[in-house]
Order: sequence, then C-alpha cells, then structure tokens
Amino acid sequence: MRPLLALATFAFASPLSLAAADPVPFEIAHRGASGYLPEHTREAVVMAHGLGAGYIEQDVVLSADGIPVVLHDIHLDDVSDVATRFPGRARDDGKHYALDFTLAELKQLEMRERFKPATGERVFPGRYAGEGIVFRLMTLSESLTLIAALNASTGREAGVYPEIKRPAWHRAEGRDLSRAVLAVLQEHGYEDKEDRCFLQCFEYDEVRRLRDELGYRGRLIQLLGGGDKISEGNTDNARFRTPEGLRELALRVDGIGPPLGEVAKGGDPASRRITSLVADARAAGLAVHPYTARADELPKWAADYDDLIRVLREAGVAGYFTDFPGLVR
Ligand code: CA
Repeated sequence: MRPLLALATFAFASPLSLAAADPVPFEIAHRGASGYLPEHTREAVVMAHGLGAGYIEQDVVLSADGIPVVLHDIHLDDVSDVATRFPGRARDDGKHYALDFTLAELKQLEMRERFKPATGERVFPGRYAGEGIVFRLMTLSESLTLIAALNASTGREAGVYPEIKRPAWHRAEGRDLSRAVLAVLQEHGYEDKEDRCFLQCFEYDEVRRLRDELGYRGRLIQLLGGGDKISEGNTDNARFRTPEGLRELALRVDGIGPPLGEVAKGGDPASRRITSLVADARAAGLAVHPYTARADELPKWAADYDDLIRVLREAGVAGYFTDFPGLVR
C-alpha cells in the first residue's frame, strides 16, 4: 500500500499524475470468502469482511413465501442436504427449487461445500472440509444487516454486491424477484449511486427493466458471458463486447462483469495477450469487474494467483470477483 499512498500524495499536487495513476482494484468477495468456507453462509460473509474485501457478493433468489434469500442457483441440490431432508419435493427434473420451499423450510437445510449431487464429489477438493459444523442459509436482509453491523463494529466499510439470479425464470413462475430485491435494498439504505452497492444481473432485458421501469437509481453492472451466444434475457454477449455495444450498455449501466477469459487470452503465460475489452469499456465510461479469480482454478494464461491479479491490474480493471479475498494485498 505504501508506494500507492506516496503516488496519491504526489498526484494531489499534480492533477495530470492523478489521472494517470490507477487505484488498486478492489476485491469483490465472490459468494463471501467461498474459497475458505461454504459459499453464501454468514461465516463466509464474516470472513470476507475480516479479510478486507471491498465488496461482498451475494446471489439472490426467492423463497415460496416471496423472501429474497442468498443462494447461487435456483435449485438447492449442489449446496445443501435438501434431497435427504425433504424427500419427495423435487420437480420432474429431479431438482429441488428454492421457490418451492418456505423460508422456514429453507432455514432447516444444512448448507455444504459445493458438490456434484450425482456422485457426491466436491467441486473444489481442496476447500472447506470440516465435519459436524452446521451452516445455514441467510435471507438477503440478514446478510445486509450483518454487513452493516460489521462495518460499524470494525470501522471499515465493505460494500454489498447483490446479483438478481434468473429473473426471467422467476417471472415465468409468476414471481418478480427484482421488485423484491429492490425493496430490501431500499430498506437497508442502498438506493443511489453514492451508496456502496453494485446491483448485477446477467439478463439485459432485466437490466433495462431495472432502470426504465422499476426506477432503480443505484449502481448497476451488466454481467456478460463468454463466447458469442445470446444468453437468457437477450444478452448479446458478442455485441456487448464491441465499442458500439458497450456504448449502448453505458446508457443504463455503470460497468460490466465479463469472464476472465475475455480480459486476457492465451494458452499459457508466455503467449497471453490482454484484449481490448477493458480499454474499450473504459472509453465508453464503464468500469470492468471480471469474474472469477480462483487460486485453485486459474486461467491457462496465468502462472499463479499473483500473476493473474497482476494481469487484471495491468488491463485496468476497477475491481474483480475472487473466491479468495485477502490473498493478494
Ligand atoms: Ca454471482
């Protein structure tokens, strides 16, 4: 931190240097400190806060009784004991959907390190493996209360970074996830661009709706997929990576969240090149927050985790999603 501080002090005397000096990108703790504890649990939030994350990411879906809860998937099978705790409650596809369970039922689940239901195999073998410790699911409101309380008790303010998950799917089920999330954010004082919050969504139709129909005034991030396909919610991933597409996005959003593989390319560290995406986005006035830095699942172009973060910084990202907050300072 010291050299940066010195640079900032120097820049204060010289506005030109200030413009040239990029701040250190902030960390967005992806599903909390999910590299160390089961994702989206309160323990993962507390650890992310303690490790100094700038923002704490929380994915959100609805319960049967309409409560926004913190969960990455619309189903519960990969991160909980739902199959054994609530037998006979799966849909025809064999999956148990959060939307089919009341909050009281969801609170009975034991949340676990992510696994493959077919085999029981863990997705990240080196991660949390404690036995007999019970983790629970949280509501979005509980999560925001916890983060605000930690901000107050530590004197260090971490922001929140909620994701509206599968809004088109929820609407097909007759539910309005976005309205429910906005109500909770408003209750907790996250409404305007000055508030330390980024709201994110993969679906462009919903991003437009948040701005044009629901009147959301806070900071908004359009998440993008890799490759060229048009994904759910009419998100034209290839087009939104072009300068023209980025300028269109900039009419409504404050930044984009692309995968790491669109920020740099290459089969090994020696042949990697940084793409023009971050520069093009910044030229359109957009911040870039790529996902997801993982020490145990590196892109081929990164030699190690430090190298990965160095490349992101060199590319000019404003922040990045990481499962391992605090690993690089
Ligand atoms: Ca997410």
